[in-house]
Amino acid sequence: LVVLDNVNKHFGALHVLQDVNLTIRRGEVVVVIGPSGSGKSTLCRTINRLETIDTGDISIDAKPLPQEGRELARLRADVGMVFQSFNLFAHKTVLENVVLGQTKVRKTDKAAAEEKARALLDRVGVGAQAEKYPAQLSGGQQQRVAIARALAMDPKVMLFDEPTSALDPEMINEVLEVMQQLARDGMTMVVVTHEMGFARSAANRVVFMADGKIIEEAEPNQFFNNPRSDRAKDFLSKIL
Ligand code: ATP
Ligand code: MG
Repeated sequence: LVVLDNVNKHFGALHVLQDVNLTIRRGEVVVVIGPSGSGKSTLCRTINRLETIDTGDISIDAKPLPQEGRELARLRADVGMVFQSFNLFAHKTVLENVVLGQTKVRKTDKAAAEEKARALLDRVGVGAQAEKYPAQLSGGQQQRVAIARALAMDPKVMLFDEPTSALDPEMINEVLEVMQQLARDGMTMVVVTHEMGFARSAANRVVFMADGKIIEEAEPNQFFNNPRSDRAKDFLSKIL
């Protein structure tokens, strides 16, 4: 579904993605882990073209990423992204946040968009908060609204960049549970996270990055019990 072929990217002198090759199949849950600064966020951001790349190719459904205009807006809808900071529109209600992209990008009529938004808000457990503003919600609730907003676009793939890192501990699980359910429902997902429990239980594959390179890719059991590279062994010894 998503193919990165020999992708390279620099920030000035920093070679932040180095010959990255990665294929994400439909329905697959890929968890990306690695030390701070290894390029995990940049990798995610190239997939919905929040970052450009220097060389290489990225395709979704065998089509190269569009570069601009309406096609780019559609790409951003096809590739749902959930960030560490929830990035909701502060001056719009929860419901409006989930309606907006549907009416603007997908051209869904307002009544249908609202119906779908309410169903999705129910699904992530914040249906009762629909008329509130984001600031009136807890972090965990806001992040679940952000997930509902991305899902409202019927994305082909969902990217999560440390979705629970900004949350108080008691709110982490409610967000991880929504993600677990999404994974069980067959959503294609790329998840950057430090939640190794989630990686073990939800991932089909773990991708370990360091210094802009994919060092190792493996099934979670294989990766956590028997990492091949010294870099991965060293990383795991520090976090587990
Ligand atoms: P973390 O675990 O801390 O989130 P990461 O693996 O997500 O790290 P990236 O955010 O992808 O790492 O950053 C990779 C490297 O690129 C870092 O050294 C970072 O400082 C640098 N970098 C990221 N964005 C930019 C930018 N817009 N301009 C210049 N350098 C950048
Ligand atoms: Mg990051």
